[in-house]
Amino acid sequence: MTEKYDTVVIGAGFAGLTAARELSHAGQRVALIEARDRIGGRTWLAERMGLNLELGGTWVHWTQPFVWAELTRYGIGLAPSPTPQTASWWNGTEAVVGSPDELLELLDHPNQLLTQRSREIFPEPFAPLTSERSADVDEESLAAHIAALPLTDAQRALLTSFWTLNFNGKLGDAAYTQALRWVALTNGDWKVTFEACATYKIAGGTKALADAILADSDVDLLFNTDVTAVCTRDRRGAAVSSADGREFTADDVIVTAPLHSLGRIDFQPPLDTRKQAAVKAGQLGLGTKIWFTIDGERPHFVALGGADWPLNFFQSEYHRDGKTYVIGFGSDAHAISPDDVEAVQATLRRLVPDAVVLETAGHAWVDDELSGETWPMHRTGYLTTSLAHLQQPAGPIHFAGSDIADGWGGFIDGAIESGLTAARAILTNRAPVPA
Ligand SMILES: Cc1cc2nc3c(=O)[nH]c(=O)nc-3n(C[C@H](O)[C@H](O)[C@H](O)COP(=O)(O)OP(=O)(O)OC[C@H]3O[C@@H](n4cnc5c(N)ncnc54)[C@H](O)[C@@H]3O)c2cc1C
Repeated sequence: MTEKYDTVVIGAGFAGLTAARELSHAGQRVALIEARDRIGGRTWLAERMGLNLELGGTWVHWTQPFVWAELTRYGIGLAPSPTPQTASWWNGTEAVVGSPDELLELLDHPNQLLTQRSREIFPEPFAPLTSERSADVDEESLAAHIAALPLTDAQRALLTSFWTLNFNGKLGDAAYTQALRWVALTNGDWKVTFEACATYKIAGGTKALADAILADSDVDLLFNTDVTAVCTRDRRGAAVSSADGREFTADDVIVTAPLHSLGRIDFQPPLDTRKQAAVKAGQLGLGTKIWFTIDGERPHFVALGGADWPLNFFQSEYHRDGKTYVIGFGSDAHAISPDDVEAVQATLRRLVPDAVVLETAGHAWVDDELSGETWPMHRTGYLTTSLAHLQQPAGPIHFAGSDIADGWGGFIDGAIESGLTAARAILTNRAPVPA
């Protein structure tokens, strides 16, 4: 039996939730179809090691207008991460212990050199496709730019590790423009970019915001419904099929599957060759985020290791019951397993020698076929050869998601922006225009 809707939204992450709410507010009959048994997508507040921990997306910021507006709309506040008391870092040859301010100071000059052209290349950070200058540099890699800077070996080691953290992936093919886009969004100030990435959590967790958006929507939410095919019937109409044999028809469909899971869906007619090429090339956020506890309630700390370590950044978050809860990030999901206590301890001990790791937790986002990636960070050439094509609808099939946002692509903010843009395109019956 076919179920009929005005719009079918595939995926109940922040892009899908936002789009579904907007369409339902406009009076549409909307199905929100999700393969998982929960909303939130790549955000997931889950109980692990005795606490509710964010296994995916976490931090938000006042420079992120779309998520900020949603928090304001639903009266949801912030929960700041603790201010670190100590810092340690790897300077390329040895571990150094100092203060967080010293570490920021060491990173300041190299980052200023690296990102000084951010506003020149992206004068309108929320309209990156209008940048006339980005094409000149979009094929240039971040690694090549870092290698060319007049820096000491220690400065270069720190800068490389810092951007490996930001990319959650390897820098070889990392787009220089992606780094510039991030920093342009905070008006050229890399320290504010860093603050945006790791300082303010959502009170009640990302779940509080996702739940608030859903509660404000009148949609049919279907869990455990894995979409296998999307078939265009005519300019206004498509059929969506799921693995359990159901079929849904709608005037419009919004697909919010991440770039690395888009290939699981059989589109008929097939996606155009430029979209297919972008899916095949993928993106670089293929790293890991692992929570763990260490023995003792230690003063809160940050630690920046070597770029090629299995985990290259650590940030402590909570004290409970004689333990410190710490997050570690690494650039290669397959270099360390989220349940490998010994490997986590061995890496941490290179900077915090006496730490005893008790237990670990995390989600294998890269091996999860519904994500296949962590936060999307783009390759050289993506901005100029792929982004505009990925944003384009194919008849009644619209695309949304943090992977293809204009502004804070890769963030919760970008997912919300993109969901709003897709919903507006449907409601105004025209192709998306920048938010
Ligand atoms: C480890 C990690 C840390 C992060 N840290 C931050 C951070 O601190 N701050 C920040 O702003 N962002 C962060 N992000 C990024 C942020 O979480 C994402 O960019 C954002 O949540 C993506 O939202 P989305 O709706 O575009 O995609 P998703 O959240 O991936 O939603 C897509 C949904 O589609 C579903 N789906 C996929 N295929 C199908 C199908 N065939 N049928 C049905 N459903 C399907 C998926 O299950 C998923 O629920 C992080 C991400 C990760 C993984």
